[in-house]
Amino acid sequence: MSVSPFSVQAVRSLFPALNQTVFGKQLIYFDNGATSQKPQVVLDTLAKYYALENANIHRGVHYLSQQATTAYEAARKQIQQYIGAGAPEEIIFTKGTTDSINLVAFSFGERLNAGDEILISAMEHHSNIVPWQLLCERKGCVLKVIPITKKGELDLEAFDKLLNERTKLLAITHISNTLGTINPVKELISKAHLFGAKVLLDGAQSIQHLSIDVKDLDCDFYTFSGHKVFGPTGIGVLYGKAALLDSMPPYQGGGDMIAKVTFERSTYNTLPLKFEAGTPHIAGAIGLGSAISFLQSIDMEAAAKHEHDLTTYAQGILDTFEGLQLIGEAKNKTSVVSFIIDGMHPFDIGTLLDKQGIAVRTGHHCTQPLMDFYQIPGTVRASFAFYNTREEIDTFITALQRSMQILGA
Ligand code: PLP
Repeated sequence: MSVSPFSVQAVRSLFPALNQTVFGKQLIYFDNGATSQKPQVVLDTLAKYYALENANIHRGVHYLSQQATTAYEAARKQIQQYIGAGAPEEIIFTKGTTDSINLVAFSFGERLNAGDEILISAMEHHSNIVPWQLLCERKGCVLKVIPITKKGELDLEAFDKLLNERTKLLAITHISNTLGTINPVKELISKAHLFGAKVLLDGAQSIQHLSIDVKDLDCDFYTFSGHKVFGPTGIGVLYGKAALLDSMPPYQGGGDMIAKVTFERSTYNTLPLKFEAGTPHIAGAIGLGSAISFLQSIDMEAAAKHEHDLTTYAQGILDTFEGLQLIGEAKNKTSVVSFIIDGMHPFDIGTLLDKQGIAVRTGHHCTQPLMDFYQIPGTVRASFAFYNTREEIDTFITALQRSMQILGA
């Protein structure tokens, strides 16, 4: 199956969820920042796995177990190659971005001491704030925050000033889920490394939109969720440099993560299984492998151009609306258009759009500190994937105008 050269209509036809009506209207799905829809090939892979291939992995001598183990490990290898990691051992399967960040906060965090500093930014998702706060409570570390400008870009001068030899980790989002800002992560990483700090990239929003090469980025950790990249929920990835992962203690104890267990003490398995205690989400990993194969069949450069076109098109029209304020106007941004409208609550707008078949997200988008920065309760967020179209944006604009009339603009 290949949909290259990129054709939106050809891509759309592969996603059954896009072909349905909601409240009697053709569904327009603009909530891709929250989760992406799934192509038929991923659904088929999951159904086939559970129907015919289901078995527990790594410990079975029987045929099905060996088949499942091979497929699970093949998915790991595929993901390794897709993000440019050096070896499959550097790919740890987790429940998702949140789980991956918590793993690092616990395990890498075990080595930190009181007074060590962790640097995040003002545009982080709660998943990349709260685990560090928990670590700070546990270890007496100090959380520092890189401020942003009103346009939604990092304040790079402030970043330079915040970096110092106490900085042990920079944990930062690659793309903001609320603003769409693409952060200049390569520059941040090389500067952080000059001070000996490690860098974790929250890739929850970048994996769907950018080609990722962790070696080229030189990040120490990269995290993402399967469900945001056309794969299943409940599966995600932590990439970590092998030597670093090797030096970290296990996160959870249980089956598969051990080498030898006695009542006196246990020794641990090698990477990656040291960090995969218990029966993993086998179907999820295989489904994610299938999603990655699907992505590899897409001309990602053309898809990114198309997404950029959708974003600038939508933003250009919304910008002309009286009383509408765009939140997030970074020069380098992708696929997210967040806005507020004078005198109207985002929730009311979202509800009226929903009744017209349009799925957007409203609220704080798990970035409450960012909402505090803008002094707003939340935004309406339309987030696009490569299967969205300009025609959908036109319908959305008309529906938004109707909603504004209803709400008394
Ligand atoms: N980080 C960012 C930037 C996100 O957008 C999200 C989800 O929206 C997360 C982290 C958390 O991802 P998950 O809920 O899949 O763990």
